Amino acid sequence: MSILTHPLHLDTHAKAHSLSADNHLEIHHLTKQFGAFTALQKIDLSIREGEFVCFLGPSGCGKTTLLRAIAGLAPQSSGRIIQRGQDISRLPPQSRDFGIVFQSYALFPNLTVFDNIAYGLRNRRDDRHGMRNRVSELLALVDLAGSEAKYPAALSGGQQQRVALARALATEPGLLLLDEPLSALDARVRVHLRSQIKALQARLGVTTIMVTHDQEEALSMADRIVVMNHGVIEQIGTPAEIYRQPASAFVAEFIGSMNFIDVHPEGSHALRLGQRLLTCPNHDYADDYQARLAIRPESIQLCAKKDGLAVLVEHIEFLGAFLRVTLSLEDTQQRLTADVALRDAETLGLVPGAILGAQLPTDALRLYPSQEARV
Ligand code: ATP
Repeated sequence: MSILTHPLHLDTHAKAHSLSADNHLEIHHLTKQFGAFTALQKIDLSIREGEFVCFLGPSGCGKTTLLRAIAGLAPQSSGRIIQRGQDISRLPPQSRDFGIVFQSYALFPNLTVFDNIAYGLRNRRDDRHGMRNRVSELLALVDLAGSEAKYPAALSGGQQQRVALARALATEPGLLLLDEPLSALDARVRVHLRSQIKALQARLGVTTIMVTHDQEEALSMADRIVVMNHGVIEQIGTPAEIYRQPASAFVAEFIGSMNFIDVHPEGSHALRLGQRLLTCPNHDYADDYQARLAIRPESIQLCAKKDGLAVLVEHIEFLGAFLRVTLSLEDTQQRLTADVALRDAETLGLVPGAILGAQLPTDALRLYPSQEARV
């Protein structure tokens, strides 16, 4: 049986994004040291005008440090930041063009909603009438019309975060920076505010960078996601690209669920999996190399034993819309997880202890070197 019939994607490096005139922000070779520790290493990144970009990665990967460097709050050790063609690398935060929202609302508790939002406008010395109109307009924008006289303590977490958003947008900044703005909120409010922020951003067209460690948030909100790990960019891409074509084993494992199967290349057209030789044109791994074949649970197709790789059904978990099935490959005992639609379970004879076949569709497979860091 030939399981692989097309070339696999073997790209393991982050794609550099090309620079062009419609970029709002360009980051060149940015490095940030804290003493001997390197928090960001030679970051290159371009963000287009009006784009919504998420910095996503595990705790400590450097996403907040990168956001703070862009804001001038934690200046880079080396490298350059260009905003709309101007080198802002050495400018203090107050001379840069951005609005920012932090995780902890950071509203002034002793000021009313009006005064919190007007704070930035006062610094701009707008006249009283203009300021009143602008604050009402901003409150309407975040669905809080008429809340001018309230104090932050009288607002829910989600409402406070919307005031923080209105405050960040008050001066019509060119760049909106959001540092985990939803993570302090409860799940229901978070999902609601997610779509509100996204709709608002699209309406205003303001270039936006949001830091998050929540992949669902990034996948649902971003035009492009920057996946970071240990101070470097692993991949930059649209949510679909990041999910379907992870550029490294780290990204493959960090986003969604992924199965990894150890295989040994044999020649340039085949992979050995136990006793089986899977045909595979165009891989460039050496024979003695151990590689990892990756496939998502929803891409594995179960069938009769004779039509696929023999697998033993070990465990079946009911997850409402589908079944998550734990399998072990008969040949190598390696474990796999497959998602199966409820309607297919009976036809397949899906019960613990059954021996079935598993098909691994070619276009759903990725191949990675085995020694890459795991999450
Ligand atoms: P989290 O999601 O946990 O906030 P993060 O990806 O935003 O993580 P950063 O806050 O950017 O991570 O931190 C990156 C690394 O730099 C971490 O190892 C952190 O300990 C270190 N770091 C951040 N700020 C400082 C500082 N002021 N002094 C020393 N080390 C720091």
